[in-house]
Amino acid sequence: MVDSKYKRVVLKISGEALAGDEGFGIKPPTIHEIAKEIKEVHDLGIEIAIVVGGGNIWRGQVGEQMGMERAQADYIGMLATVMNALALQDNLENIGVPTRVQTSIEMRQIAEPYIRRKAERHLEKGRVVIFAGGTGNPYFSTDTTAALRAAEISADVILMAKNNVDGVYSADPKTNETATKFEQLTHLEIINKGLQVMDTTASSLSMDNDIPLVVFNLNQPGNIKRVVLGENIGTTVRG
Ligand code: UDP
Repeated sequence: MVDSKYKRVVLKISGEALAGDEGFGIKPPTIHEIAKEIKEVHDLGIEIAIVVGGGNIWRGQVGEQMGMERAQADYIGMLATVMNALALQDNLENIGVPTRVQTSIEMRQIAEPYIRRKAERHLEKGRVVIFAGGTGNPYFSTDTTAALRAAEISADVILMAKNNVDGVYSADPKTNETATKFEQLTHLEIINKGLQVMDTTASSLSMDNDIPLVVFNLNQPGNIKRVVLGENIGTTVRG
């Protein structure tokens, strides 16, 4: 195993990241590239758990805005994350990375149910574990799932892979020229300043459990490996 900064990581990939420039659904070449990046890190001997989002297919809030009951709309979102997880599993296994998908809502024909100790055992055996279905509860997000699972499996860090943005900024850098990038932040600063990193439930869970976070750009090839090896890219969030 390489001398890495982290031994066990939770990688959070938003659904959007799987859609590439299409903005919707799963783009096979994009997910293939992401799988290759994950393989590079896996080859270093680092234990990787992945939490995938579902926003490329469905968001509960959007369903609610269109008149659906929120909880029902959220369950559709949770199922969307399962589709993404299966696609990612397929791409990882195609390039020789052993994986297991665990779902927070049981669907035994297609994946294992989430069992914390079993997930840890898979990681110890060198399998990439993909957590699907979010927390299994409506009104939560997959960012909160990442914080929750990271705490449960004692991960060293959450790697928050973002789409085309290389860290946390004071304002949206795509629309505001004066936006400046933060190198370091605390979870409390994110909450107090209302920065768009993760929702407050996820931030407070990370804060209460002392889980560091690195926010970085997934679209730059090699970045997951750089972060894991301790290169100072992106924004680090602690305490
Ligand atoms: N979701 C949920 N509970 C969870 C995680 C996700 O209800 O614990 C639903 C929610 O409707 C959300 C959707 O699943 O909008 C997709 O997840 P998320 O928005 O976190 O995905 P991402 O933005 O990372 O693609």
